[in-house]
Amino acid sequence: MQELEERIRRQGTVKPGNVLKVDAFLNHQCDVRLFDHMGAEWARLFAGHQIDKILTIEASGIGIACMAARHFGDVPVVFAKKTQSINLDGDQYTTRIYSFTKQREYPVIVAKRFLKEGEHVLILDDFLAKGNALHGLIDICHDAKVVIEGIGIAVEKGFQEGGRTLRKEGYNLKSLAIVESMDPDQGTITFAPNPA
Ligand code: 5GP
Repeated sequence: MQELEERIRRQGTVKPGNVLKVDAFLNHQCDVRLFDHMGAEWARLFAGHQIDKILTIEASGIGIACMAARHFGDVPVVFAKKTQSINLDGDQYTTRIYSFTKQREYPVIVAKRFLKEGEHVLILDDFLAKGNALHGLIDICHDAKVVIEGIGIAVEKGFQEGGRTLRKEGYNLKSLAIVESMDPDQGTITFAPNPA
């Protein structure tokens, strides 16, 4: 998606450790017009699929998933939580994942009442690196016996293995921008051609 690639080129910064910082429009300050356009693009890419619900993970997935939902007939958005709380009552699906950016393990929790057997789910998230976060959401989908219609990602780091693994596993994965390489010294970012 050209608009997203241009924003990454203009406002993204490359940090040591293969981290791309896009907090000016995606991870801290949110550009809702861009989010809206991303939602429209996912709707185009997943056209013809039955989508009953969008599943994402807090925190950065929430904004993009909510804007995207407007393009999928205002379907509900469920976001997995990363901490237990007294507000999380009832039966839960839980798993644990390792965070690439935070370099620690954390739980992924979804209340059972928000994912029903047989529902058709689109998983959305901001970044795909090694695929740990997505595999956590996929585990929960399997536990809940929902149908994973597809996975939409804003920024896939194509030089890390997550995307390759998920495509090999047969998931219909569509990334709006695939970063092919990035250089922290030069600050340069290159994209794979026409990812989605
Ligand atoms: P994975 O589990 O695929 O290794 O990493 C995905 C998660 O880690 C995303 O949900 C995102 O929050 C975070 N992440 C991974 N790589 C980056 C990155 O380069 N930049 C930012 N901002 N977040 C990242």
